[in-house]
Amino acid sequence: MLKVENLHVYYGGIHALKGIDISVEKGEIVTIIGANGAGKSTLLNTISGLVRSREGRIIFKGSLLRPVPHHIVMKGICQVPEGRLVFANLTVKDNLLLGAYLRKDKNIKKDLEKVYELFPRLAERQKQLAGTLSGGEQQMLAMGRGLMSNPELMLLDEPSLGLAPILVDTIFTVIQDIKKIGKTILLVEQNAYKALSTADRAYVLEQGKIVKAGKAADLIKDPTIQESYLGQK
Ligand code: ATP
Repeated sequence: MLKVENLHVYYGGIHALKGIDISVEKGEIVTIIGANGAGKSTLLNTISGLVRSREGRIIFKGSLLRPVPHHIVMKGICQVPEGRLVFANLTVKDNLLLGAYLRKDKNIKKDLEKVYELFPRLAERQKQLAGTLSGGEQQMLAMGRGLMSNPELMLLDEPSLGLAPILVDTIFTVIQDIKKIGKTILLVEQNAYKALSTADRAYVLEQGKIVKAGKAADLIKDPTIQESYLGQK
């Protein structure tokens, strides 16, 4: 479904991505794990068109992706950014409806119901202002808003960041539920244990390069991965 080939990204003189090759097949959860500053957000931001690459290409469903964010959303890719970024002064429901603003089909109401099924907490709080939600609820709202664009591929940037352990569990359960409704997921995480427990396949990113790739179930048992990334469970 998604193929990233030889991607190079620079911020001025900083070479942030140094020739990245990854692929994501339909229906998979693929995770990118890596330390702070490895380039994980840069990779997602380049796929979603927010950051330009200097070299390389991104192919989605067989065609070259042009680096224009709203075209990319209309092609079926949505990014749930790190830090949630919900509209604090809008209600939960209005935040969700904003996620559908580029859609022209008539299934928006049905999808809103689906999001409320996935996140009963959001259903209870439809009329509440998003700024008054807890951190975990805001993360759910950001994911729900992403789903409202009816994406085929969701890019999730650090969904567990800053959440209490119980909410981290909830978020990873919902990621599985989102897969079950037919979405494909590319997940960037610092919580490598959770990410590898949830994903089908994984890539390890270090200083802008993929240093390891494989089935998540194998990588979680890999001694070098355990030593570098799995201290925290
Ligand atoms: P984190 O988990 O801390 O967000 P990350 O793996 O997502 O880390 P990136 O945010 O992609 O890493 O950063 C990769 C490198 O690019 C880092 O060295 C970072 O300092 C640099 N970088 C990121 N964004 C910018 C920017 N807008 N301008 C300059 N340098 C940047």
